[in-house]
Amino acid sequence: MTDTGPAPVDLVIAGAELLVTMDDDRTEIPGGWVAIDDGVVVAVGSPGREPPAGRTVAGTGCVVTPGLVNAHHHIYQNLTRAYLPATSSTLFGWLTTQYPIWANLDEESAYLSAWVGFAELALGGATTSMDHLYVHPAGGGDLIAAEIRAARELGFRFHATRGSMSLSQKDGGLPPDSVVQDDDTILAESARLVAAHHDRSRHAMVQVALAPCSPFSVSKELMIRTAELAEQLDVRLHTHLAEDLDEDDFCLELFGCRPLEYFEEVGWASERSWVAHCVQPNQAEIERMGTWGTGVAHCPSSNMILGAGLAPVAEFRAAGVPVGLGCDGSASADSASLWTEARNAMLLGRLRHGPESMSARDALELATRGGAACLGRQGVLGELSPGSAGDVVVWPIEGIRFAGAVSDPVEALLRCGPVSPRHTIVAGRFLVEDGELVDPGVGEILARHDAVARRWQGVA
Ligand SMILES: [Zn+2]
Repeated sequence: MTDTGPAPVDLVIAGAELLVTMDDDRTEIPGGWVAIDDGVVVAVGSPGREPPAGRTVAGTGCVVTPGLVNAHHHIYQNLTRAYLPATSSTLFGWLTTQYPIWANLDEESAYLSAWVGFAELALGGATTSMDHLYVHPAGGGDLIAAEIRAARELGFRFHATRGSMSLSQKDGGLPPDSVVQDDDTILAESARLVAAHHDRSRHAMVQVALAPCSPFSVSKELMIRTAELAEQLDVRLHTHLAEDLDEDDFCLELFGCRPLEYFEEVGWASERSWVAHCVQPNQAEIERMGTWGTGVAHCPSSNMILGAGLAPVAEFRAAGVPVGLGCDGSASADSASLWTEARNAMLLGRLRHGPESMSARDALELATRGGAACLGRQGVLGELSPGSAGDVVVWPIEGIRFAGAVSDPVEALLRCGPVSPRHTIVAGRFLVEDGELVDPGVGEILARHDAVARRWQGVA
């Protein structure tokens, strides 16, 4: 017998211009490599020490980062992207215009929108996404299972959330009766979905969280019972919170207190929760959130397109609030690229507090570690270290758009561009390779998606 050395790992990405691990020490390795075996990162290191591998991919001219994590989305809304009748609306006007269209949601449209949404996210450097699906029309079927089917087909890492609305227009809420459900139905469905799909293993590809839409679309009773159920099932909690000033007025009128006070009153103020937007908390509320450990999914593009305001991201981070990034629903932000969200977070941070307040590394940290913290996957997602998930993005920083950017690859990554991944890898599998989606089904899926979008919007 001859000594053949260690068994080869499945995949090594070697020779990166810079390997950005986003590990606890924020280690960056010029010329570095990452090794993945059985879907998991087994080692990272300096040039010349690469392990033997079944496949080695060159990272020459590229920054290699952990896969980006999307902490807030409404994927079904890609069926009403840039919908003209709602393009000049505030949040509340935009919602009331679209609810009657979204009442058409069924398993076919949930599957198609999820497939397109996950593919789009992979092309923008995301490897994990949550989806906040809160429209469950009567007779629409099992929409969450349809989304999970799309995620599994593509190999995308997915945190489904069982969203809900129980207050319709007749109760003083915003949505029509056709898209709300009663509390008992919502809670029973939530428990069923957790039992059916929530994977508690370290490198889970699918998890489930509970997610009433917002304080103004469910009953107080449902907020309280949802928090109790999440504790009992040990799953995470998500909702929209303090998105714009209209919501402050609405909460004061309906509940007699501000959105954050209500959030605490109904038992949500804990590290089990992460909330979307949170643009309008005051300083005392920000500090309270830091003590709770409640996370925030900052949605820069959506905040800008809806004119919601500048979220206090620097204040959150100073208070110890975990902050991730979300592209938000496709019909409010219209595009779903986490690269774009990271860049916009950097720009908005600097607009609010000046050029020293937010670097490209800060923004990349929100898009990786921050998102992982929102989803409760710290140490597994959003970093490249032994034992973390094998979710990697290879970003080319060469050619015309990066000519002259020779002093810092990470600043170049978010300041130059636009740039799309050369490779997006989830659990060691290529979803995007050489800039193209690997799955051959995209043409057929897009044709079916187009037919549904045209039918919903009444466009021939
Ligand atoms: Zn949202």
